[in-house]
Order: sequence, then C-alpha cells, then structure tokens
Amino acid sequence: MTLKRLAMRRHQLFPNYRILVKHVREQELRDQRRLRELELKYAQQLSREKSHEDFVHMAVHELKSPVTVLKAYLQMMGMKLSREEQHTLLSTIEKMDVQLDRITHLISDLLDGTRAGLGTLHCLMNDFDINESARVCMANLKAAHTDFVTELDTDPSEPVAYGDRERIEQVMNNLLTNAVKYSPGEKYVKLQTRLVEGQIVVKVTDHGMGIPEHKQQQVFDQFYRVDTDGGKKVPGLGLGLFICADIIRKHSGQIGVSSREGEGSEFWFSLPYRG
Ligand code: ADP
Repeated sequence: MTLKRLAMRRHQLFPNYRILVKHVREQELRDQRRLRELELKYAQQLSREKSHEDFVHMAVHELKSPVTVLKAYLQMMGMKLSREEQHTLLSTIEKMDVQLDRITHLISDLLDGTRAGLGTLHCLMNDFDINESARVCMANLKAAHTDFVTELDTDPSEPVAYGDRERIEQVMNNLLTNAVKYSPGEKYVKLQTRLVEGQIVVKVTDHGMGIPEHKQQQVFDQFYRVDTDGGKKVPGLGLGLFICADIIRKHSGQIGVSSREGEGSEFWFSLPYRG
C-alpha cells in the first residue's frame, strides 16, 4: 500500500486522527510536567527530612557533650573529696550521676524516636549469641535494682540469632526497665529466651500493674502512654516501645504483649534463628 493510500485509509478509520494525536501529545506533555513536579516535590521532601534528621542529630550531639563533661567532673570531684566529707558528698554526687544518666537516656530515646518515625533507624546485621545478650542485660538490671527478684531462663541449645546485637540489647533493656518501672507492688522480673518453630523468642514477664486489654496494642504507638493513675506517676515519653517495635520490624520479627490489669505483663519478641 502506498503512503498516500495509507493516509486515506487512516482518515477513513479515524476521521479525527490529527485532533487525537494532538490530544495525546498534549496529555503526554501534561504527564511529563506532572512527573517532573512530583520528582521535584519528592526531592524537596527527602532533603527536608534529611535536614530535619541532621538537625536532631546535631542537637543531640550538642546536648550529649556537656552531659559527658559533667559526668567526668563529678567523677573527679568524687575522687578528690577528703575522707570526712566523703560520705554525704559522695551520696549527692551519685544522685546527680543518676539524673545525668536519665538525661542521656532521654536524649537517645528522642534521637531514636525521630529516626524510627522517619524510617531511618538502621540496623547492622550479624550472627550473635542471644543468651549472652540476655545474661548481660539481666546482670545490668540486677546491679541497678537490687530490690527486685530476678529470674533468667535461657534456651539450653544456646541459639545463634541474626541481627544487630546492640539494638536487640536495647530492646531487651527497654522491656526490662519497663517491667521494673511499672511494678510498684510485687518486684519480680523474668527474662526468657526460647527457640520456637525455627525462631528465637524472647519474653520479659513482670507481676506489676498490667495493661487493660483494649489498650495493649496501642502501647507500641508513638508517644502513647496508658492513662492510669499508677502509670501517670511514672516518668516517660511513650517512645520506648515504639522504638522497640521499629527495631524488631527491621529484623523481620514480631513484637507483642499479653497482660492482665493488676496482675502483670508479658512482653515478647521474635527474631530470625541462625543455627
Ligand atoms: P514510657 O515508658 O516512656 O511511657 P513506652 O513506650 O516504653 O514509654 O511504654 C508505653 C506505655 O506502655 C507506658 O507508658 C506504660 O503505660 C505501658 N507499659 C509499658 N510497659 C509496661 C509494663 N511492663 N507494665 C505495664 N505497663 C507498661
């Protein structure tokens, strides 16, 4: 078929061919413009989030340095004190040190909470001994809370987990600290590691105030705090469990709680098993 006949045939089939082509081209141009706009908006959003994170990072760094220097001065003062004054002053210094640790902890939670909210909390994955982590975390808890009865029950097969050891210990410490914080009555905490159906499961049990059933899932939300008389008195930001949930999600694991108000709670999380 010649070109001329082809054009005639096209005209017979699509009498408005030129208009159609014009519409399609215009639509294409509109789509390209919209795509460019969206790309620009996305790049601007990314850069805003990046500068927000950079700012928080810088602010946290600025806040942490004087805290570290203050801690060093406190330790120096403690060492230089004369024997007679030591008793009263050392106890004041220890109390100040505890407050500084609280500030450092809050600063870290704010930074991790911001990262978890932005999805920029990173984990460095490696094989590690989960029982060893449990032993370290439990030893720290026992040293800080001598009034608590503690129980450590580790899986006898000494399972190797795959994950970021530091971050997983952060989750364990958080659950253990919460167990202590929210147990005004019976002072009991248990930490258990188990290999269950090809996954490592870690459980923290307490006999504390517990959480009403309809509020149990919300405790993993950002800034959520259970609104009970007892709970209100305990200081906190409502960020710890939100950060824990993000860390466990990054490990393709699961996190949950079962609890009875007035009887206690059992927080658990699962992790990939390596062997
Ligand atoms: P924070 O302790 O700073 O408030 P979290 O995110 O760690 O923040 O916990 C969220 C809320 O979940 C707490 O405010 C508390 O009400 C509840 N919660 C957490 N752990 C326990 C626990 N072991 N027993 C009772 N309530 C708990």
